[in-house]
Amino acid sequence: MIPTHFDYARATSLDDAIARLGASAGGAKLLAGGHSLIPLMKLRLSEPTTLIDIARIPGLSGITEKDGTIQIGAGTTHHAVATSALLTEKCPALAETAATIGDPQVRNRGTIGGSLAHADPAADYPAILVALDAEIHVKGKGGWRSVKASDFFQGLFTVDLQPDEIIAGVHVKPQKAAAYAKLHQRASHFAIVGVGASLEVSGGKISAARLGLTGASTHAMRLANVEAALAGKALSDATIDAAAAVAGDGLDDLNADIHASASYRRQMIKVFTKRALDAARARA
Ligand SMILES: Cc1cc2nc3c(=O)[nH]c(=O)nc-3n(C[C@H](O)[C@H](O)[C@H](O)COP(=O)(O)OP(=O)(O)OC[C@H]3O[C@@H](n4cnc5c(N)ncnc54)[C@H](O)[C@@H]3O)c2cc1C
Repeated sequence: MIPTHFDYARATSLDDAIARLGASAGGAKLLAGGHSLIPLMKLRLSEPTTLIDIARIPGLSGITEKDGTIQIGAGTTHHAVATSALLTEKCPALAETAATIGDPQVRNRGTIGGSLAHADPAADYPAILVALDAEIHVKGKGGWRSVKASDFFQGLFTVDLQPDEIIAGVHVKPQKAAAYAKLHQRASHFAIVGVGASLEVSGGKISAARLGLTGASTHAMRLANVEAALAGKALSDATIDAAAAVAGDGLDDLNADIHASASYRRQMIKVFTKRALDAARARA
């Protein structure tokens, strides 16, 4: 289908984009890679009056390390995340996650900021960013603020972002002992179930663990019971098996759709939690 009529403007800076958003009184939408927004517009599920193109804002894309923190600009494509030498060396799970997104066309156009703002329940980044305890930096009329990934995803396509705010970037600490494992939908590669796992290990013991789940429910979330089952335990097969066995327990709003029933998803949460933990352990 053809989208409804819209105006187009190219933003020259974050502040320019924020001003344009404010002036549109809710009618405008930001355009990054367009790989979620344009399909919605073609289906007329989204009918913005103006598209504010942020893809060429100077400095909005790129991956750098500053004061021990890796900073990823919101406009950075999935391909750039997947092939980043810095991430491959210092935070390989994030690069690996990006490499599993969609197909080459999606990875070459889609951006990390667009994926996080859109917050598809089956998107990949949310699970690994929750596991990595990432911070999402946003700017609006009121200035800057940062939100923990675990607080950012609030519901179905719903995030902690005001109408006049823009995601500027994602900050993560270097973390080698982390991994992402997903059961993917064969055509789109979206996650039917995706689990991100991150381990802090000291003297053969797990001092802390963080796990993020996507694809299974309305939005990404921590697997707190798995984290509790790992913390303070010896890093062993038995510990991982016992922790993976409780993954998904207590979650009573699991998705059920043409790809998988709720009970199948619950079982796959256990399987992919184990795979993510085994892979993170191999890097510890
Ligand atoms: C065929 C296909 C397969 C896919 N497979 C996968 C997959 O396997 N895994 C996966 O995770 N995703 C998948 N996707 C989604 C893809 O990753 C999109 O690129 C992503 O969801 C949106 O990023 P974008 O840059 O294209 O955003 P856009 O489509 O341009 O924008 C999406 C939304 O975010 C808003 N937005 C964009 N940038 C910002 C910003 N910086 N701040 C605030 N709001 C912003 C827009 O206004 C819009 O509402 C797939 C998409 C397609 C078409």
